[in-house]
Amino acid sequence: MKKIVFLLLTLLILGSLFWWGVKRSAPSVKTEPRLVVSGYVPYTLAKQIAGDSAEILMLLPPGAEPHSFEPTPGVLIALNQADAFIYISDELEPWAKELAQTVGARTQVLALAKSFPTVQDPHVWMNIQQAQLMAYQIAALLAKIAPQNRAVTDENYFKLASELDDLQTQFSQALATCKYHEVVHIGHLAFGNLLQPYGLTLTALSGTAHEGEHSVKKLTELIREIKDKQLPAIFTEESVSPGLSRTVATETGVQILPLYSIEHISKQDFENQVTYAELMRRNLQSLTRGLICQAS
Ligand SMILES: [Zn+2]
Repeated sequence: MKKIVFLLLTLLILGSLFWWGVKRSAPSVKTEPRLVVSGYVPYTLAKQIAGDSAEILMLLPPGAEPHSFEPTPGVLIALNQADAFIYISDELEPWAKELAQTVGARTQVLALAKSFPTVQDPHVWMNIQQAQLMAYQIAALLAKIAPQNRAVTDENYFKLASELDDLQTQFSQALATCKYHEVVHIGHLAFGNLLQPYGLTLTALSGTAHEGEHSVKKLTELIREIKDKQLPAIFTEESVSPGLSRTVATETGVQILPLYSIEHISKQDFENQVTYAELMRRNLQSLTRGLICQAS
C-alpha cells in the first residue's frame, strides 16, 4: 500500500513539474486551458492561435525528430491533466497514437491529419493549404474547450489564415518562374507535399522517416544526377550530418541551401518561437536561390 501511495505521489510531482516547466518559460500565461501537443508543427500553430490564453506543453524536445519518441511517466500524468492532446497523425507519430489511447475522458484528442485523404508522405503540413486546415481545426477545438477566450483565439486565427494565404501567393508566384525544377535533398523525404503543387520534383537521400544509415550507392546516384542535370544547388536539413552535404558539394561544386521540415526545430528557433510561416519563408528563399527563380 505504502509503495502505491509513494508511486502515485511521485507521478503527481512529475506531472506538476511538467506544467511548472511550461509556466516558468512563459510566466504570463493563464492557467487554462492546458494543451499537450506532440511536436513543433501543432505547437507553433496552436501558439499563434491561443497566444497567452493557453498553456501549451510540447512533448518532443527541440532537436528531436518526430518519427520516434519514448514517453516518460510524467508525460502520461500531464496528458491526463490536459484539456486537449493534439498530434498530427498515427502514421507520422505512432507513439502519439499509443498515447492518445491512454487519455481519460476530460482530455479531447485531435489528430490533425485524420480527415485528410491517405497520402504516402505523412509530412502533410508542408502543403500550405493543409496547414490552413490544421490551423482551422485547432481554432475550432479551442473555441470548444475555452469559449471564454474565443474573441482572442478567433482574431488570432483569422490573422494566421490571412498570413498563410499570402504565403501561398508568394510560393505560387516565385516558384512559377524557376529555371530548374528538381530538388535534390540530402535528407529525408519530407518535402514532396511542399514541392508537388508547384510542379517541382524531389529526390532525397532517405525515405519518409529519418534513417540512421545512408547508403553510399544512393549518395553516388545523387552526385551523378546533379552532374548530369547541371543543377546549381543541393538542399539539406538541420537533422542530417553536414558532412554528407559537404561531400556532395565538394564532388559537384554546387552550393548547399537549408530546408526546414518544421517537425524538427532547433533549440535556437524554439527559443525565438519562430513561426510556421517564417520557416516556410526561409524555405522559399532557399528554393528561389537554388532553383534560380525570381523572388516575389
Ligand atoms: Zn519527417
